[in-house]
Amino acid sequence: MHRNRAKDTRNLPSDSKLIKLASNQLVDCAGELFNSTPYLCARLSLEEDKDWNASVLATTAAIKSGESVLANPSFYANDLMCDIHYLEKTKSGSWNAFVVKSSTKISDKSKEKAAFQLHTIQSAGLKINGFFFLTINNKYERGDQLDLKKMFRKRDIFAELNAQLPTLKKTVTELRKTLATEKAPDIEIGEYCVSPYSCEFKSNCWKHVPKDSVFNLRRVSRETKFKWWNNGVKTVAQLQGSKFQAGIALSDSQSEEIIDKPHLLEFLRRVNHPILFLDFEGYLPALPPYKGIRPFQIIPFLFAAYRIDSVGSESTFHSFIGDPAKDSRKEFATQLIELCSEIETILVYDPLTEKQVIQGLMRAFPEMKDDLESILHKIVDLAKPITNKHFYLPAMKGLSSMKRVLPAVAPNTNYKNLEVQSGRAASQLYQILCDENHDRDTARELDNLVEYCKMDVYGLVLVYNAIRAAIDDPVNPAIPS
Ligand code: SF4
Repeated sequence: MHRNRAKDTRNLPSDSKLIKLASNQLVDCAGELFNSTPYLCARLSLEEDKDWNASVLATTAAIKSGESVLANPSFYANDLMCDIHYLEKTKSGSWNAFVVKSSTKISDKSKEKAAFQLHTIQSAGLKINGFFFLTINNKYERGDQLDLKKMFRKRDIFAELNAQLPTLKKTVTELRKTLATEKAPDIEIGEYCVSPYSCEFKSNCWKHVPKDSVFNLRRVSRETKFKWWNNGVKTVAQLQGSKFQAGIALSDSQSEEIIDKPHLLEFLRRVNHPILFLDFEGYLPALPPYKGIRPFQIIPFLFAAYRIDSVGSESTFHSFIGDPAKDSRKEFATQLIELCSEIETILVYDPLTEKQVIQGLMRAFPEMKDDLESILHKIVDLAKPITNKHFYLPAMKGLSSMKRVLPAVAPNTNYKNLEVQSGRAASQLYQILCDENHDRDTARELDNLVEYCKMDVYGLVLVYNAIRAAIDDPVNPAIPS
């Protein structure tokens, strides 16, 4: 795919390296499952431009010298290249292949990729006897030590992959024909641009897609949207009145503002001073770092809050961020309880995560259960007026996520100047800082994380103010600086 595309048309997501790094850590850890220490044929890289020749040569040399477990071996055969997480030699001299997944399930796409790996390794001359996925067992609860044999599930999909090989070989033939052409194929955009992955060249190929395109509509399948697009119906305006409109609700994308004053007043009556605007950040490690934690259980590490004591009073900012070198959950809970003790209403935007975190803390620290429970009772969901369509601005484009709502109520506010720009990036970054071998400036990165969370919670204040302003209530609390 990269062969005939100019490099400068690529647009890698900013947090992709962070996600890859966390996944590489899991792959490294799976190496401890083998009876002997794996021979490292190549380091897992964060970069796209891997030195394939060097890794193939290292793999060939390792096999010749009789290594029995290979980590990250690479193969080249008939113009095909692949690498794989682990290979283990069996007593008969054939090999078992292993792919590590930081998930509990195996997607069809992962199986397609595995079939390609199997085909390439076999074409390179290795006899493969078994092909295993190592997935995460999310029922496993960590004891004092991590038990990798219980944490990973080993699933043999060799027979299934063999059944896919005839189709795969036909696809490879088609791909060869495409690669032999001088120019990148001139094709229209399609579902393949976004599924199973968002293509790196999308910002280039999708330049001609108008801002009010049919792709903005919610609750319509991707297949349907491409059907409209391919039939010349490219914008919501073109869809209106077209033969395709039947049964499609366009209200989400229409330009009508909704200010339902009676419902908004009812919502605001539930909000009493002192108010706390609150936001948490947590991470979901595949490897449970502490006793009693399961894979992918959310572990809180940061909260940010603005407190407003009375109508018109100044706001005060509060935050807590854990030390990545230790288990900070108890300190997190203690400081949160202290901050919330005098608060009447805690405003959180879509508080599912916050509630999960507090319930997890209640289980981990039963002595704090009552105090934590009282925090749960004070939480009011600030997203409700928006999800219930009691407060809607056209710029929200039918979406209720904070990332869409904030620019709609405060167009000059954005995350562009922040080092950390999404909750997912925040979570991955903290996970990196937890690794004692990381090479980041910890103090600086912790500041970046707090700044991100501060922006999120500042957004809550702006949304709340916008709701009050919409019903002509004096805007309160004062906007924090
Ligand atoms: S964005 Fe779509 S059309 Fe462009 S290269 Fe990617 S898959 Fe092909």
